[in-house]
Amino acid sequence: MASDPADLAAFRDEAARWIAAEAPDPLPHDLTEAFPAARAWQRKLFDAGWLGLSWPAEYGGRGMSPVHQIVFDEELTKARAPMPAGTVSLEVIGPTIVRFGTDAQKKALIRPLLSGEDIWCQGFSEPDAGSDLAALRTRAVRRGDVYVVNGRKVWTTMAHLSTWCALLAKTGDGSRASRNITYLLVPMDSPGISVRPLAEMTGDVSFSEVTFDDTEVPADNVLGAAGGGWLVAMSTLEFERGPYVLRRYAEVRAMFADLVADLRASSLACDPVVTRRIGECDMLLEALRARCDRIVGEIAHEALSNRSSLDKLFLEYVSQEIFGFALDCTGPNPLGSRGTVPHSPRWAREYLYSRAASIYGGTTEIQRNIVAKRLLDLPMEPK
Ligand SMILES: Cc1cc2nc3c(=O)[nH]c(=O)nc-3n(C[C@H](O)[C@H](O)[C@H](O)COP(=O)(O)OP(=O)(O)OC[C@H]3O[C@@H](n4cnc5c(N)ncnc54)[C@H](O)[C@@H]3O)c2cc1C
Repeated sequence: MASDPADLAAFRDEAARWIAAEAPDPLPHDLTEAFPAARAWQRKLFDAGWLGLSWPAEYGGRGMSPVHQIVFDEELTKARAPMPAGTVSLEVIGPTIVRFGTDAQKKALIRPLLSGEDIWCQGFSEPDAGSDLAALRTRAVRRGDVYVVNGRKVWTTMAHLSTWCALLAKTGDGSRASRNITYLLVPMDSPGISVRPLAEMTGDVSFSEVTFDDTEVPADNVLGAAGGGWLVAMSTLEFERGPYVLRRYAEVRAMFADLVADLRASSLACDPVVTRRIGECDMLLEALRARCDRIVGEIAHEALSNRSSLDKLFLEYVSQEIFGFALDCTGPNPLGSRGTVPHSPRWAREYLYSRAASIYGGTTEIQRNIVAKRLLDLPMEPK
């Protein structure tokens, strides 16, 4: 659904005013520590009607255009306001349920997902199936009205805080064929689920290993068709790449402005190496912004192209260049001891987190393979 520019500008002003008046103070960086306040913030956003803006009103959304949601999220980031607790729910799982859910599933699941009463995690990756998702081994066997699930997932973001999991499991004969995968909606308090939180190199705990031991899931909780989970999962991954690039661009742009402010206040401000690299980073951000403009156009016309792998690769490159530069300015020997800038722990943490972009949502190598094969039409490797 296209949007009138004047309507969008008025909407942006209204959003900015509301955020300025209502946003809480910054929350702790650690997801677990920040969670209770981030969940309360999500509830406040929901009650005020700022979440699920483009989702159907009958399920708790507002029936506006997807660009309204992008504009609201941009204003949140610009104001340095916290993100709501359920980012995986809101950005990835929710849109998938809206697209593939039955009426009953949408009625039961969307409203609590928006309000933060329910928090969702995404159980796709396994210890031996990440890039090669079709090799997953978690099995779901139909017994009467339930599927009985056994298996192990890893890297599951927010699993230790979640009430639901969007799970991929093998059904049918268990072969590699993608038609043997089913997408299940699993309550995290089901008997037989255990969650072991894992620490990232930033020191934060944001993901976990999740084990399913004879966990029973009602057969009504299949999203899409039984055995049709691959199609649903590809849609989830599409939401994970395109719209995520927009949010992360806005975050990196805001943090780069903070870094430049820190540098301006330091003895590094006049250093020619520093000024040259600031210019390079700004140029990269402008190029990324141009890609984001294209993504917004595609989302507005509900036609996400297969260029999302390039967008993700470019986001990864730009953010790693910027936080690499931040670390060069703030590390133990900043740019040959020419000076120091404040807020060093923040930049070290952002540098470490930026490295994760080479892995999540599909690794660098996999995205490059997709670009070569699907965009540039290079042949597949001979088997
Ligand atoms: C911060 C973070 C959050 C995450 N959150 C979630 C989540 O919530 N839910 C979830 O399901 N997963 C999540 N993941 C997992 C992520 O999607 C996987 O880690 C990713 O798909 C890679 O899988 P893997 O770790 O098994 O690596 P592997 O697939 O084992 O790959 C190992 C290395 O081999 C390379 N490689 C593999 N195959 C090829 C090939 N064909 N050609 C060239 N190189 C290849 C890879 O690029 C990589 O460098 C998260 C990851 C991170 C870092």
